[in-house]
Amino acid sequence: MKWEKIIGHRENVLALRQAVAAGRVGHAYLFAGPRGVGKTAVARAFAAALLCPAPAAGEACGRCRDCRQLAAGNHPELQEIRPDGASIKIDQVRELQRVAYLTPRQGSRRVFLVEEADLLTREAANSFLKVLEEPPERTVIILLSSRPQALPPTVLSRCQVFTFRPLPVREVEEVLVREAKLAPEVAGEVALLSGGSPGRALELARGDFAELRRRACGLPGMLRQSPVLEVFRQAALLAEDRERALTFLDLLEAWLRDLLVWRETSAERLLINRDRVSLVRQEAAAYRRRDLVGLLKQVGATKELLRANANTRLALEVLFLRLAGARAGREE
Ligand SMILES: [Zn+2]
Repeated sequence: MKWEKIIGHRENVLALRQAVAAGRVGHAYLFAGPRGVGKTAVARAFAAALLCPAPAAGEACGRCRDCRQLAAGNHPELQEIRPDGASIKIDQVRELQRVAYLTPRQGSRRVFLVEEADLLTREAANSFLKVLEEPPERTVIILLSSRPQALPPTVLSRCQVFTFRPLPVREVEEVLVREAKLAPEVAGEVALLSGGSPGRALELARGDFAELRRRACGLPGMLRQSPVLEVFRQAALLAEDRERALTFLDLLEAWLRDLLVWRETSAERLLINRDRVSLVRQEAAAYRRRDLVGLLKQVGATKELLRANANTRLALEVLFLRLAGARAGREE
């Protein structure tokens, strides 16, 4: 992975590249930003620049043995750690701790990349903190997180923090047209729903996006008119796949947001689901402003719960019950 292949994030790329070129590399970094926004791609490009013995202006050469091993994903000094099940466990951090103080077998550096670092167990985080307090020489640790606020402040304070912001919709659209071969008008819609995250947008484009979106737009109306058993059935169905449930919640959020936008402005051009204007108009009339604001908050909270690995089915049931109960003129 080379810097020039990275989409967006120009300031972060420039700063990291300059750090490599100037030989001013820190011991620990935190890349914070939404899922799929490009943190891992930047971390891998950074690792390549750190492990290549002959970088040019902070960019890996792409030709040497190290670069070839990096491209093949088997460089011995780049170790990627990701959650084992629902968390990063103490044993994983102990192994990192053991390896980190050894002299690199190949080249002059070693890089650890810790995905979803906010899922360190408390015990694991304490152990990890010890490594950060006595940083091993020649080792660079890069933590990635979409929920940096969930990391212990003691860990945060020892990292150089780089914040990754959502990309402009237009840039995500370009990625979709180029990589997923979407037609421009479909790409525009998916890009809007991705929240500026190209990884997320590609997932949406590859999955059963159209079907999931149809269900998300229909769900609030359906639940308001269904027996309560249907709430539990829908939640159970969706809970089978957590990643898919998260996509569904993004789509549901976009839908509720459209209902709110319509209530407040009646401006078609501001809608994400522009192809469903008549359903937007009809559904928006079924809610008060504060119902929709409350529901949007609840969807956000549910997404947060799912990302934190709470019980998916339970979290969805609570949300869907609320959806079933929310309607104009009725107190909850
Ligand atoms: Zn190289």
